Amino acid sequence: VDPADGIARMAVNLGWRDVPLRSALAERLGDLPLWVHNDAKAGALGELYFGAARGCSDFVYLAVGTGLGAGAVIAGEVLIGANAFAMELGHLGLDPNGRLCACGLRGCPETFISGNGLLLGVAAHRASYPDSPLARAQSPTTEAVLEAARAGDPLARTVMDEARHWLLWTMQYCVGTLNPGLFVIGGGLGHAAHDLLLDGIEAALQARTLDAAHDGVRVVMSQVTSSAVGAASLVWHGLRQAAN
Ligand SMILES: [Zn+2]
Repeated sequence: VDPADGIARMAVNLGWRDVPLRSALAERLGDLPLWVHNDAKAGALGELYFGAARGCSDFVYLAVGTGLGAGAVIAGEVLIGANAFAMELGHLGLDPNGRLCACGLRGCPETFISGNGLLLGVAAHRASYPDSPLARAQSPTTEAVLEAARAGDPLARTVMDEARHWLLWTMQYCVGTLNPGLFVIGGGLGHAAHDLLLDGIEAALQARTLDAAHDGVRVVMSQVTSSAVGAASLVWHGLRQAAN
């Protein structure tokens, strides 16, 4: 979503391309001022003003849900980018021979670290684990994958290990490029799978990044539970900017 013109350029999981979101909202809301942004970037603002990142000027917010969204606040400002696509970590297209993503690229982190990604993982590996109860499930859910992983199911463990590997890689990339002092992990799956994805992740991150870059970096869970708080933070942030 481009906050400058209010157009949703691309929303992979909604199938949107160039949807004029702001003008559509303006038609219904009349003369009220409007701010439009990507949900994960609004989520990052929610954590900045009302959540786990209060008082932190440099942090990365990762929304691990149906997809993988991300937002970064650096020097107190949300990173937007030339085309408003900064921090599209879910769709980095890292492996041209990797899994096909809904965005059209291959090897995107979202094809591993997301609800959709876990189910893609089950489909990709089930033939290798014929004895796994999860492999025999007709239409597995993400909750079933998490339960099976906790019960020691080898297929589920493989899928979760892959998700953790890519999550760690994505965070490592952030440490190297943005040098955040904090990672805030949110999203439904981020919370539901925190034991499987995040246990020991700070130490793992430290082992893979430069001492000087990761010094003091922390990984915490998000505190804002309603997306309405992210949207309200967008208004708060917009009014503050307008006043300065
Ligand atoms: Zn993608």
